[in-house]
Amino acid sequence: MQFQNSLTFAQKMDAEDKLHKYRNEFHFPQINGKDVIYFTGNSLGLQPKITQKYVDEIMIDWKELAVEGHFHAKKPWWDYHERLARPLAGIVGACVEEVSVMNALSVNLHLMMVSFYRPTKSRYKILCEEKAFPSDQYMLQSQVRFHGLDPNEAIVEVKKRSGEHHWRTEDIQAKIKELGNELALVLIGGVNYYNGQVFDMKTITQTGKSVGAYVGWDLAHAVGNIQLALHDWEVDFAAWCSYKYMNSGPGNASGVFINQKHLGKGNIPRFEGWWGTKKETRFLMKSTFEPIDTADAWQISNPPVLSLAPYLASLQLFEEVGMEALIDKRNKIVAYLEFILNEIDRQVEGNFEIITPSDRGCQLSVFLHGQGRPLFDYLMKNGVIADWREPNVIRLAPAPFYCSYEDMYRFGQILKDGILTKRT
Ligand SMILES: *Cc1c(COP(=O)(O)O)cnc(C)c1O
Repeated sequence: MQFQNSLTFAQKMDAEDKLHKYRNEFHFPQINGKDVIYFTGNSLGLQPKITQKYVDEIMIDWKELAVEGHFHAKKPWWDYHERLARPLAGIVGACVEEVSVMNALSVNLHLMMVSFYRPTKSRYKILCEEKAFPSDQYMLQSQVRFHGLDPNEAIVEVKKRSGEHHWRTEDIQAKIKELGNELALVLIGGVNYYNGQVFDMKTITQTGKSVGAYVGWDLAHAVGNIQLALHDWEVDFAAWCSYKYMNSGPGNASGVFINQKHLGKGNIPRFEGWWGTKKETRFLMKSTFEPIDTADAWQISNPPVLSLAPYLASLQLFEEVGMEALIDKRNKIVAYLEFILNEIDRQVEGNFEIITPSDRGCQLSVFLHGQGRPLFDYLMKNGVIADWREPNVIRLAPAPFYCSYEDMYRFGQILKDGILTKRT
């Protein structure tokens, strides 16, 4: 498509965009009396307008029914989490029984490690990407120490090649093969939070399995952003948060995927609680745990219904629109943003470098070789909410649900003004 850096062109793109109307389904913060240009849907998605209704429903049921709400609320609380599994399974490419919603992301990764990191004397190594999201690094290190092992020895990081900004699949595969029988687990962020790279999860999963390792993915930046096929790729487990592209609200509940072949087993190592035991006998208060034969066996506590309500609201929107349409718009709007960045760079010699590789989702990470922090501060003051990462990177993620082509055009103008103003 031939893009143009003009308001008329951007508005024409919006007029032809089937998803454009969804912008109205979200609340935008205001700066200088105007809706912001919101690039941080990869950090905290905007609030859908229908969310309030979902939360109010719980508050009213609680007020009017109290404990009776567990079984007699409009959407009974005791199995409220089950409502989320079906729509989520569609989004992550799973069977419904392979998905559950509980806790928060890092907690769930720990719980998955209990089941899928079972080091032996000879097979104990974990492969991850260098500079993984800090929480994942702390999680891996503490798990390794918990087993009495040395993180420096047990955790192997795949590095980028010198002078490159992305990881190469062949380097990851080579490392997996090199570790071979020593490799217990591959655990990588499916979409890297820093450079926006989408890993070849299918190939990496296959390679990991070919040497007998378990393979898990942290999908914080992947879910609601890219096409996933966890079941078909034969991933062992995955976990994600819901407050980034999924728009479920700050710190909200996490989802997990556990491959069918690990379900229905009584003898798998797992930390257990009463919400993982069979529903039919749960309230008999027996002393033996009988695992539910779905991913819900990993549920420990009764579900945080007030958190799940906004997540359910958001899933309703995802179901209505579908990942295919979102991805279609994502590809176009990210390409348009890239075009705008290149145009402004050309016009005013901004000296930007897009470090996101072509395997990408919604995010472009831009290295500012020229002006850095002052330019970012200018953007923030002038109605653009973006994200700053040391040493000199801004991350721009135009979520296709609510960002418009006009936003991209206007962003370009603000960026250009910022560069010219800061230069004088
Ligand atoms: C956002 C993010 C997290 C956050 O974890 P929480 O437990 O929700 O605080 C973890 N890992 C990755 C890769 C992330 O991008």
